[in-house]
Amino acid sequence: MKTISISIFILFLISSLTSCNDNITKKISGNDVSEIEVLEEFYQYSIWYAFVNKVFEGDLTVKELKRKGNIGLGSYTMLDGELVMLDGIPYQIKEDGTVYVPSDNAKIVYANAGFFREDHSFNIDDTLGFDELRRRINENLPSKNMFYSFKIHGKFNWMKCGGLHKQEPPFTDGLDVLIPNRPVFTRDNFEGTIVGFYCPEFIGNINVGGFHFHFISDDLKFGGHVMEFEAETLEVSMDEMHEYKFVLPDTDAFRNVGFETEFQYRKK
Ligand SMILES: [Zn+2]
Repeated sequence: MKTISISIFILFLISSLTSCNDNITKKISGNDVSEIEVLEEFYQYSIWYAFVNKVFEGDLTVKELKRKGNIGLGSYTMLDGELVMLDGIPYQIKEDGTVYVPSDNAKIVYANAGFFREDHSFNIDDTLGFDELRRRINENLPSKNMFYSFKIHGKFNWMKCGGLHKQEPPFTDGLDVLIPNRPVFTRDNFEGTIVGFYCPEFIGNINVGGFHFHFISDDLKFGGHVMEFEAETLEVSMDEMHEYKFVLPDTDAFRNVGFETEFQYRKK
């Protein structure tokens, strides 16, 4: 009898905890992940310092990344394209500028991701460039000491995006050489979404300090690493995150990397 009542009590406890979780879980777009803990988490795969120092082979799959967030950015293994994830779909912008949706088995070498829930937003209705956008975000940033993700949809007069040249081992050049010599794509008069992150300066060489933005157009034909643009109207939406998780590649390349070269975008 005692055993039965304890079992019933445990069942009651489990069912009440489950319904409590249902209430707390907020709506997230894209992939279906029910764990409430990940909603405030900034997820990072590999570290910027390793990526800069030629760790160009990753073991994270597209399938795994989709469980870590519904927005994201990064690069595919062997630098086979820039990665931008929007509404749960990762896109791959190849070195010739063409946009693909990669298979779940495709490998990623470096990524930032999170489940986006808007905490704060503002609109911009005057023509402005990338420097001015960052200045206005800085003005509206609740704190320089927290992590933020961004979804910025708008109408662009023009944009210049950077790609990556695919690499083959043995790798000779690091990002300090490859980024200044990256392929560049341009387009006029179109709409799309900037997806990106802000890291406080204290992040050091673990990630990009300040802002890091990637882009995908509404028609899914143009994207990459945001370099310059002129926008006509923008809706800036941001999500503050106060947890940070980074996962290291379980690869020989990461185990053996020497951290000789420092390189930062430094987009404050
Ligand atoms: Zn980038």
